[in-house]
Amino acid sequence: MEHKFKKQYGQNFIKDQKLLDAIVCGSNITKDSFVIEIGAGAGALTEVLAQRAKKVISFEIDTDLKEHLLKLEEKYDNLKFVFEDFMSVDLKKYTGGEEFSVVANLPYYITTAIISKLIDFCPKTMTIMVQKEVAERIGASPKNSAYGAMSVICQTVADVKIILNVPKTFFYPMPEVDSAVLHFNFNGKKLDGKFVNFLHMCFKAKRKTLVNNLSSGLNISKKEAENLLINLGTNINCRAEELSSDQFFALYKQAEKYNI
Ligand code: SAM
Repeated sequence: MEHKFKKQYGQNFIKDQKLLDAIVCGSNITKDSFVIEIGAGAGALTEVLAQRAKKVISFEIDTDLKEHLLKLEEKYDNLKFVFEDFMSVDLKKYTGGEEFSVVANLPYYITTAIISKLIDFCPKTMTIMVQKEVAERIGASPKNSAYGAMSVICQTVADVKIILNVPKTFFYPMPEVDSAVLHFNFNGKKLDGKFVNFLHMCFKAKRKTLVNNLSSGLNISKKEAENLLINLGTNINCRAEELSSDQFFALYKQAEKYNI
């Protein structure tokens, strides 16, 4: 396939068959799975998915890939490509409310936006290739310097694990950074937008203590902020990065009375 790679679309493709197999095996999809892929590229991952799943819908923004991908679509009855910007599609229109899993090698320039959009639709599982640094942030445990609002958001709704580390040499053209595959096993919890805002507020100034962030973010006295942490059973001098996702949720529930 002749193709002019578009850096602005994060086009770093995979062709290594063993890597494609490892991603699909790690996703745990079966012949009963309905899979959504974001970013078909040359369709290498898409083809493995079409061979192993019940149904695959794959979104691709770059219409230069259309001719090539439509030939692949002809080979598989269970495969459909949608040539649209995933961020603007109404996903419900395509899933029809049916349970689905996500498997994708994500375009890195909009990784977080795509993850946030997908979380709102509560997939069954999500197996995504992202920049290694992003994977480490999302999978980080409390007290790790990489732990932040995105780690808590993801760990609130899913059990998240890094299942593969993938060196940059596996992609063409070769990107500047290494990658990793994250697997999310969703627990069915719905994310509340106010909880997300609350988390961003808690992590706003990472070097400040949590009491200071709570006091300025909620517009309450330091004493009131300290009481929130005392009720939680945590040290009043702690920083946001010390709390687990469950502790953040409990803190949020207490703080709701302050009009978040
Ligand atoms: N799945 C292929 C693979 O693994 O070889 C390609 C992955 S490549 C990292 C990401 C793909 O996402 C590119 O083909 C790019 O054109 C596409 N893409 C970028 N932004 C997109 C968007 N907003 N909606 C849909 N596809 C997008």
